[in-house]
Amino acid sequence: MIFSAEEQFALQLDSEDPLRHFRQKFHLPLGKDDRPLIYFAGNSLGLMPKAARAIVEEELDNWAKLGVDAHHATGTPWYTYHEALREPTARLVGANSLEVIYMNSLTVNLHLMMATFYRPTKSRFKILMEEPAFPSDTYAIKTQIVHHGLDPKDALILARPRKNEFIIRTEDIVDLIQKHADQLAVVVLAGVNFFTGQLFDVERITAAAQAYGVVVGFDLAHAIGNVPLSLHDWNVDFAVWCSYKYLNAGPGAVAGAFVHQRHATNRKLPRLAGWFGNDPNTRFRLHLEPEFVPVSSADGWQISNPPIFAMAPLRASLAIFDDAGGMEALRTKSVRLTGYLEFLLAENGSKKFTVITPREPDARGCQLSILAHEHPKELLKELETAGVKCDFREPNVIRVAPTSLYNTFHEVWRFARILAQHQ
Ligand SMILES: *Cc1c(COP(=O)(O)O)cnc(C)c1O
Repeated sequence: MIFSAEEQFALQLDSEDPLRHFRQKFHLPLGKDDRPLIYFAGNSLGLMPKAARAIVEEELDNWAKLGVDAHHATGTPWYTYHEALREPTARLVGANSLEVIYMNSLTVNLHLMMATFYRPTKSRFKILMEEPAFPSDTYAIKTQIVHHGLDPKDALILARPRKNEFIIRTEDIVDLIQKHADQLAVVVLAGVNFFTGQLFDVERITAAAQAYGVVVGFDLAHAIGNVPLSLHDWNVDFAVWCSYKYLNAGPGAVAGAFVHQRHATNRKLPRLAGWFGNDPNTRFRLHLEPEFVPVSSADGWQISNPPIFAMAPLRASLAIFDDAGGMEALRTKSVRLTGYLEFLLAENGSKKFTVITPREPDARGCQLSILAHEHPKELLKELETAGVKCDFREPNVIRVAPTSLYNTFHEVWRFARILAQHQ
């Protein structure tokens, strides 16, 4: 697509945007002038779907009116509440419905998946992850290693960008896999890196590792709801994600996990168990059935009864993704929106910052990471004063994530103009 830096062009793109009506489905935070902020922080906390309030209130009402009976009452009984999330989520991540489950929060799910899939032996004990990774993932992986009596110095391998580069080359990841093939147990990477916005080649990396019998898991915190995924077909072993970023399900919303069918149906796999992972046929026989019999699906990794109030907004949010036509439709707009942002930043031609996100649309999601060479914190302050909500990552990166569901081309245009004025 040929872009233009004229304001009229941005307005034109908005008027032709088939998804433009979805913005009205969200509460847009207002700035000091009572105008909506240019909210480019959906990679941090997605905006609240207007439908979320009613859906949460419905469950509060059910609690008020029905008490414990709400677990089995008509409508959306709490006991099977997660079933309503299954199909729309399977569509988002490219899974079949037995492979996905919502439970806990993201880092907890990463630990639970590692409890199953990281079973180090004397010869195979290493984990490969990326650097920089989100700190919670680094803490989780390092403590997993320590938990098994090993030392991260020996067991942790980091895939890094080359000197003077920001992006981790796929061939370098594959080289590391091959170099450590005999000792490598698990590869854990982000789908989209939180810092640079790099979208990893999930399919190729998975195939490269599995060729050596290595298990491959992905943290999709920045990928789900952002880019199309085909976890089942790509043969990914496991994945985890949170729901409060691009999924717009609210702060601390219940997180998700994917376990590939070939593992999900394997009841022999070790796991950290709780009663909600147990076969529903015997779950309520309680102390009469002390033997844990896992459900033969991703549900078998559930531990506790699900947090209904944290799940309710997710129902509202997932319905929006379906209404919008799913990830393919959203991605078409997203590629254009971010491409337009990149174009306008290049038009400004500033030497004061560098976009460190990959240039190829296939190698990124919606986020652009802007490395400010001078006074990054002041620049961020100026953006905020001008009504932009984005975020800052130490030491000098401003992350902007225009989303297909609630951002506009005109906001991208205004953002680029504000940035140009303040550099
Ligand atoms: C947002 C994010 C987290 C946050 O973890 P929680 O357990 O939800 O607090 C972890 N990892 C990555 C990669 C993230 O982007």
